[in-house]
Amino acid sequence: MDTIRAILYDAGRTLVRPKPQAPEIWDFLAAQLGIELARERKLPNVGHFFYDRLGRDGLGAYDSDAHARSFWAEYYTQALLDADVDLPRETLLSASHAVYDWYQQPEQWEPYPEALETLRLVHERGLRQGVISDWGTDLVSILHAHEVTDHLDFVVASAAVGTAKPHPDIFRFALARAKLEPAEVIYVGDSYISDVLGARGVGITPVLIDREGTAPAVDCHVVASLLELLGLIDA
Ligand SMILES: [Mg+2]
Repeated sequence: MDTIRAILYDAGRTLVRPKPQAPEIWDFLAAQLGIELARERKLPNVGHFFYDRLGRDGLGAYDSDAHARSFWAEYYTQALLDADVDLPRETLLSASHAVYDWYQQPEQWEPYPEALETLRLVHERGLRQGVISDWGTDLVSILHAHEVTDHLDFVVASAAVGTAKPHPDIFRFALARAKLEPAEVIYVGDSYISDVLGARGVGITPVLIDREGTAPAVDCHVVASLLELLGLIDA
């Protein structure tokens, strides 16, 4: 590996995770709609929902706050339709928007247990760090509230720059802003398509984080914890 001068991170399910799980989300929707919902029901697979929509929406699901909001509103509306909730679509959409508002509150998110320690240790080694994320412009306040920004040089949220992963433009924007060459950078994320293929597309070394050990065999570095990145930069 070339000399690595920076580690850049995906945000969702790489540095931070949402606190509410499916049961709390069903409870929230039930309260919004004034109905009862089975809280043990699974939510639709987000990745499948996202990639199903690519043909219709292109890669635009996250290139603005309005698109990020409508993506999630449509997602929860689909979940309610799948659960056979017999209410007008407008009512379901309205409750789904309320879930999105709820998720914009920093307290609904938390850093992974090793995230802050990793950021501190990488910073101590003199490397630069940043975030490139498909997220609304609320990302900075969420990361800031949890002190994730303490050791970050920059945060690039797709909705703020008008282009989303895996498109090369969002990675190029971040490289130009940080004055970094692709060969000097490691990018870590939990999505093979958005993060690994996106980063590789501009010449950045990709790392897949697979905390549950469920990823199939892939053609890139795989770590189970962010702390393993330290071994990679020492190698
Ligand atoms: Mg992610």
